[in-house]
Amino acid sequence: MESIIKQEKWSLEGSTALVTGGTKGIGRAIVEALAGFGVRVHTCSRQDLSTVLDEWQRQNLQVTGSVCDVSNRTDREKLMEQVSSIFEGKLNILVNNVGGGCVKPAVEITTEEYYSSMALNFDSCFHLSQLAHPLLKASGRGNVVSISSMAGIGALPGCAIYGSAKGAMNQLTRILACEWAKDMIRVNCIAPGTIRTPMAQWLVDDKELSEKVLEKVPLKRFGEPDEVAAVAAFLCMPAASFVTGQVISVDGGRSINLG
Ligand code: NAP
Repeated sequence: MESIIKQEKWSLEGSTALVTGGTKGIGRAIVEALAGFGVRVHTCSRQDLSTVLDEWQRQNLQVTGSVCDVSNRTDREKLMEQVSSIFEGKLNILVNNVGGGCVKPAVEITTEEYYSSMALNFDSCFHLSQLAHPLLKASGRGNVVSISSMAGIGALPGCAIYGSAKGAMNQLTRILACEWAKDMIRVNCIAPGTIRTPMAQWLVDDKELSEKVLEKVPLKRFGEPDEVAAVAAFLCMPAASFVTGQVISVDGGRSINLG
């Protein structure tokens, strides 16, 4: 009896999820982790997904996908309509993963860069969460996990827009956690440090800069996408049932290192 209870706590079998930006990097690792736990996952990216969907099918992972630019409001509405139709009006997990962009001094940021970065990082997270709310509520056990950044916790010069948008995601997490607890929806956020993905490849490849960055990371290495995915999956499990409104750093200790 006890072992069955334990298994249920650590299981996501039969759940449904939407993971944005699931064809590469952290998003892909999250899709594969969730699907590996028996979750039916829908994902999206801006480009055709047929090759990666075929790969997942060969691995017996239950993943569907569609083309969507999450920085576009109409695309987001269309995406959530598709998700609602595929999962019959119920969704257990929303992972707001897509993000990135503009790294330059604040005084050089153009109006266009400001709005496109806010749309990509914050508008997408806010609006998709809002659109998903009725589906998450209908599932009876909903979870939102957003991927922000250590740039949204401490001050990284050059990250005025990116870091501010990620900081806003952290605060949105706390507010939605309070507003939606009554609907049986938990809302959490992961703040990664540097993770080896296509987005961070330029930094990993720059030996001098990498050494400088790693000096401040207690674990002395960059993270892997599956190390972020493991925390995302855990946050969605019943085992994490008393965790909500948190911003969890997955950064090798970078954010706590004052040395
Ligand atoms: P990545 O390697 O560039 O992968 C991004 C994924 O999102 C791809 O599947 C990409 O596919 C998709 N995508 C990009 N823009 C999109 C859009 N507008 N609409 C729909 N899909 C889109 O990025 P990552 O490094 O895994 O980053 C994932 C998240 O982690 C981001 O929010 C990022 O800010 C955060 N993060 C990353 C790091 C890091 O070191 N890697 C550190 C801190 C935080 P297409 O290009 O085909 O659209």
